[in-house]
Amino acid sequence: MAVAHVIDDEQELIDAIHELAVERVAPRAAEIDHTGQFPWDMQELLAQQDILAMPFPTEYGGLGSTELAVVMAIEELSRYCATTGLLLAVHQLGAMPILLAGNEEQKRKYITRLASGEWMAAFGLTEAGSGSDAAGMKTIGVRKGDKYIINGAKRFITNGGLAQVNSVFVNTNPALGTRGVSAFIIEKDFPGFSVGRIEEKMGIKGSQTAELIFTDCEVPVENMLGREGEGFKIAMATLDRTRIGIGAQAVGIAQGALDLAVSYSKERIQFGKPIAENQGIQFMLADMATKVEASRLLVYNAAEMVDRQDKNFSKYSAMAKMFASDSAMAVTNDAIQILGGYGYMKEYPAERMMRDAKITQIYEGTNQIQRLVIARELLR
Ligand SMILES: Cc1cc2nc3c(=O)[nH]c(=O)nc-3n(C[C@H](O)[C@H](O)[C@H](O)COP(=O)(O)OP(=O)(O)OC[C@H]3O[C@@H](n4cnc5c(N)ncnc54)[C@H](O)[C@@H]3O)c2cc1C
Repeated sequence: MAVAHVIDDEQELIDAIHELAVERVAPRAAEIDHTGQFPWDMQELLAQQDILAMPFPTEYGGLGSTELAVVMAIEELSRYCATTGLLLAVHQLGAMPILLAGNEEQKRKYITRLASGEWMAAFGLTEAGSGSDAAGMKTIGVRKGDKYIINGAKRFITNGGLAQVNSVFVNTNPALGTRGVSAFIIEKDFPGFSVGRIEEKMGIKGSQTAELIFTDCEVPVENMLGREGEGFKIAMATLDRTRIGIGAQAVGIAQGALDLAVSYSKERIQFGKPIAENQGIQFMLADMATKVEASRLLVYNAAEMVDRQDKNFSKYSAMAKMFASDSAMAVTNDAIQILGGYGYMKEYPAERMMRDAKITQIYEGTNQIQRLVIARELLR
């Protein structure tokens, strides 16, 4: 089965991440949610413990972990704090265009610093007017000598304004539609780069979601990823891989909610006995656990497909992200129900878990878009 495929030394690492999550991450989760401040301590912890190095090859200072181990790490962290789980997921998201399309020089310069945790990464595709229809972007780049001059703005960018390394998608030839999109590595301190509004959100509150603004932003030609016009392909190939991590974030959140519902139902006494002794509650718990397990297997399966370089993984990564996030929403909602009025209160983490679960149905392609991807493959 899937879990057995995590090679022995990686299982040790996952066990260590579990311990770390219980001891260091869990106690911070409520406060991160309450203050909405970016958790620098968690970012540093993941860097120090080499967890941020997991998605990168050893030749660039990474741990060279399998995709399965990366998603298991995201799951373990998200079980206790979805914002902290996202730190690893978005690190991989922002770096993936460089891993997929970067040349040796770009990888040496950027991946080494991302693997060490010195720099953070972000992925800039979405704009105010283009979300699901990413090709409708208005940000444009015009070549002038050895630079591209970029104008426009990206919206809802996770780690926006914090990341030194921004993989940004820009239209360099609007007449060509998706084939006119090019990808660039844009550093935070390039001239003409600035940060606009910082969003206030429903969940994953410690994660910074920001607008990136490019005003005659000067990007050296050598910072283009791949060739001109390959950007859209790079963006889609990135999301195909990284949305498995969002599925893993959803599995972690749902597992956390299930753990809470099980322990609460054994302790809460009504009508003279624990509420867990009612079959009505037991059936809810059984359904929740089955949803969590089915989601986990879909997520691990898609990750293993990536690891064995199975080219048909795209449909399965869409299924994993869609099913796991829909399940996380259902499971967290049921957890609140099992906690009754206490579930609705901030005193318990159930309501935070539901708010955090909601985003997994939306980002890295909404679940409607995942259904389009799956249906397109089926009908091909
Ligand atoms: C907290 C947060 C963090 C994010 N981080 C990033 C990031 O780091 N980088 C980045 O580039 N983006 C990021 N995003 C953007 C995210 O990926 C988009 O919000 C998402 O893709 C949806 O785009 P939209 O919000 O414009 O919704 P829209 O595309 O306007 O969709 C609105 C609704 O219409 C539905 N819909 C649209 N088209 C169709 C269709 N053809 N068929 C059926 N239904 C359809 C959608 O599913 C949705 O329900 C983030 C978003 C949030 C909220």
